[in-house]
Amino acid sequence: MKGIGTSPGIALGHVIVYKEPEIAVTKEQVQDIDKEIDRLEKAIKIGIKQIENLYEKTLKNVGKEEAEIFNAHKMMIEDPEFIGDVKETIKSQEVNAEWAVKNTADKYIEMFENIEDEYLRERALDLKDVSKRLLRILLDIETMDLGSLEEESIIVAEDLTPSDTAQMNKDMVLGFVTELGGKTSHTSIMARTLEIPAVSGLKDITNKVKNGDFIIIDGKEGIVLLNPSEEEIKTYEQKKKDYKEFQLKLEDMKGKESISKDGVKVEIAANIGTPKDVDKVIENDGEGIGLYRTEFLYMDSKTLPTEEEQFEAYKIVAERLEGKPVVIRTLDVGGDKDIPYLDLPEEMNPFLGYRAIRLCLDRTDIFKTQLRALLRASAFGNVKIMFPMISSIQEIRDAKKILEEAKEELRKENIPFDENIEVGIMVEIPAAAVHSDIFAKEVDFFSIGTNDLIQYTLAVDRGNQDISYLYNQYHPGVLKLIKMTIENGHKEGIWVGMCGEAAGDEKLIPLLLGMGLDEFSMSSSSMLRARWIINNTSKREIESMLDEILSLPTAEDVEKFIDEKILG
Ligand code: PEP
Ligand code: MG
Repeated sequence: MKGIGTSPGIALGHVIVYKEPEIAVTKEQVQDIDKEIDRLEKAIKIGIKQIENLYEKTLKNVGKEEAEIFNAHKMMIEDPEFIGDVKETIKSQEVNAEWAVKNTADKYIEMFENIEDEYLRERALDLKDVSKRLLRILLDIETMDLGSLEEESIIVAEDLTPSDTAQMNKDMVLGFVTELGGKTSHTSIMARTLEIPAVSGLKDITNKVKNGDFIIIDGKEGIVLLNPSEEEIKTYEQKKKDYKEFQLKLEDMKGKESISKDGVKVEIAANIGTPKDVDKVIENDGEGIGLYRTEFLYMDSKTLPTEEEQFEAYKIVAERLEGKPVVIRTLDVGGDKDIPYLDLPEEMNPFLGYRAIRLCLDRTDIFKTQLRALLRASAFGNVKIMFPMISSIQEIRDAKKILEEAKEELRKENIPFDENIEVGIMVEIPAAAVHSDIFAKEVDFFSIGTNDLIQYTLAVDRGNQDISYLYNQYHPGVLKLIKMTIENGHKEGIWVGMCGEAAGDEKLIPLLLGMGLDEFSMSSSSMLRARWIINNTSKREIESMLDEILSLPTAEDVEKFIDEKILG
C-alpha cells in the first residue's frame, strides 16, 4: 500500500488500531439557556487545564516549537469570536451546548478546509481537535490513552490529533499510519521532530488491519506492507539499519564545510516562512537563508503588516544569522497564495496573473513600506533583497527605482541601512532563464525558483493533481534552462543559487553541483543530507557527464542515468 511519507524512517512491528470513541451529538431544545452557557463555560475551563497539561508535557518531552501547538489550541478554545458564536447559537436556537459547539466548529472547519494554502487548511485539524475535546468533556466520554501502551507498537488510526501524539509514550510507539493528514499537519511535524516514522493518506487502512497484525512502514517512501514475507522483513531490517547509520553520518556533517570531493565550496542554505523557522536552521547548521518567504507575514495578519512589524521580523532573522547571508524575498502573493484583505481580482489564470512583482509595482505603497523595512533590517545583519516573478528588464529597473527612493528617504531620516545591499531576482519564468545573459548585467545574484520554472516551462499547474505526472524536475528542457542560467550568471560575475524544491532533491544535487550552482537553499531538515551528498561528489566528474545527460531524450532517461551512473 502506498500513502504519503510524512516522517522518514523504517518501522517493523505489531499494529494497534486506535479508534476514537464515537462522539454522537444530538440536537436538543432546552428551556434553561443559562444552564447550557454554564456547562459550556465549565467545559472550556476543564479544556484549558487539559491543554495546559499537554503543553507542559510536550515542552518537556518534545520541544518548544511543538508545544506551541497547544498555545494555538488554547487560543482557539478561548477565542472570543468562536465562543461568542457558540453562545449565540445556544441562545438564538435554544439548543444544548454540545450541539452549538459542533455546529459552530463545523462551520469554521469548513471555512478552513476551503482555503487553498496547505498550511492554513491544515489548521482545520487543530480546530477539530479542540472541538472534540470540548464535546468529550460535555458528554463525559473517556478516550484510549496512548500514554500507557505496554508494548512497542505501530499505531494505525483514521487521524491522529496533536493531542493524541503529545500523549504518546515515544519509547513504545514505533511508528504511525493514518488515513488523513498531509506533510504539514501538526501530527506530521511532531512525528518528524520525535523521529518516529509516519505514513499518512492511506484511505480505509483502519478497516484493513486489526490489532496484532505485523506491518512494515517506510516513512520516506510512504510504503506500508501488511503481513510481509520473510524476505521483505529481512530487506527492511537492513534498510532500517542503513537508515540509522546514515542518520548518524548526517549528525557528523554538523560543523563541516559544504565542499565537493574535488574541493569546490558551495553554500547550503535554508528556506523559511517565519522568524520561528530560524531555530531549525541553526540546529541543522545552515550556512544562511536562501529564501525568506515574506508573504506569510501578510497572510497571517488581518490587515497589511506595518513597516515596524515587518522590520521587527526581518531584524530578528538577520540578527540570529549573525552575519550569514539572509535573502529576503519581497511579497510574492497571488497565484495560489491569497490575501483576503487585498481584494485581489478573480482571474481565469491566477498563476499568469496579477501577482508578486506585478502587484508590487502597481501597489507601490505596499512595496515601498516593505523595502523600507528590509533596508532598515539590513543594518542588523547580512540582508539581501530578492524580487520574485521577474519576466522583463523593465521590472528590475522599476523595482530598483523604488528601492532607490526608499534608500533616499532613509538617508534623509538618518536611519542606517547597508548601502551596499545586494539585490537579486528569482529566475522562475522561462524568459528570465533564456534571457539571463542580459538580466545578469542588472543584478547582484540569481536564485532559480524551480517550483515555478518547471510549471511555466512545462505548462503544468503545480497544484493540479490530475496532471502532476507531467510535472518533472528531471525534464531535460528544464535542466537546460537551469544550466544556461548558471553559466550566464557566472559570465557576468554574479553568484547563482536555487531556492525551489529541486535544490534539495537528492538526485539533482550532484547535477547542480556539476553545473556550478553556488548556493542550494532548501527546507532545514534536508540541509545536512545535502551537505553529505556534496561532500561525496566530485564536481569535475559530473561536469564531464553533463553534455551526455542533457542530450538524453526524456526525464525518465535522465533519472535512470543519475540512478545508475551517478548514485549507483
Ligand atoms: C519557486 O517558485 O521555486 C519558489 C521557490 O517560490 P515559491 O515556491 O514560493 O513560488
Ligand atoms: Mg515561485
